[in-house]
Amino acid sequence: MSTSIDRSLLISAATALGAPVDDKIANTLDTFFGLVASTNEKFNLTAITDAASFTEKHLIDSLAAADLIPADARVADIGAGAGFPSVPLAVVRPDISVTAIDSTEKKANFISQAAKELGLNNLSSVAGRAEELTSLRDTFDVVSARAVASLPVLCELALPLLKKGGLFLAYKTDLSEVASAKHALTVLGGTTKGAKEYALPSGDKRAVIVIEKTRPTPAAYPRRYSKIKSSPL
Ligand code: SAH
Repeated sequence: MSTSIDRSLLISAATALGAPVDDKIANTLDTFFGLVASTNEKFNLTAITDAASFTEKHLIDSLAAADLIPADARVADIGAGAGFPSVPLAVVRPDISVTAIDSTEKKANFISQAAKELGLNNLSSVAGRAEELTSLRDTFDVVSARAVASLPVLCELALPLLKKGGLFLAYKTDLSEVASAKHALTVLGGTTKGAKEYALPSGDKRAVIVIEKTRPTPAAYPRRYSKIKSSPL
């Protein structure tokens, strides 16, 4: 098993997806791979630890939304886990500031530590549940989420955190969940703006669904997580 990421694949695939990756950025992301792999031996951060899968499924996929984020945006990543997409986005977009949110304290702490070791001044983390962060309501220009929950559930976590006019970028495999989120968007004040559909180097299809917060989210949302899960909008 290789102990470093596939730099040339990362550079060519990410650049083709609209995220310019040069040697310096590739080195930073390779250092991040090392941090994830070594920390994963102490506690479970991610199931994907071999270098080739990490390059494709974590790094290249995370970078697919880099060109959808407006200049200087304040970004929150809900359920960041080991730092996806938050860490790769913070590395390639030094103009944005990224807050990685995870309900597991160990994961949030790992991201803060990684930000320090990688010298990323534009990345911080918050340990907590997205639906409980009332002080961050109406704060962000962009919210991202990958592999956290179904789209209707995610909309209830994400839209309250966005400013009006802000964008929710939902990383999914395809657009099949868009129809099921229609009611949630009507209630929460969101409008589907479109999607970026792409393929990973292996040929696997992916999509980033773009939702704009077009109206304020009513104060009744987000509800408690048990309620969000048991009766999704
Ligand atoms: N986004 C990462 C991790 C996905 S796993 C990736 O794509 O690899 C889902 C993560 O979401 C877990 O780390 C879990 O702790 C976190 N999570 C689940 N519900 C959450 C919530 N309501 N608020 C914040 N984090 C949450």
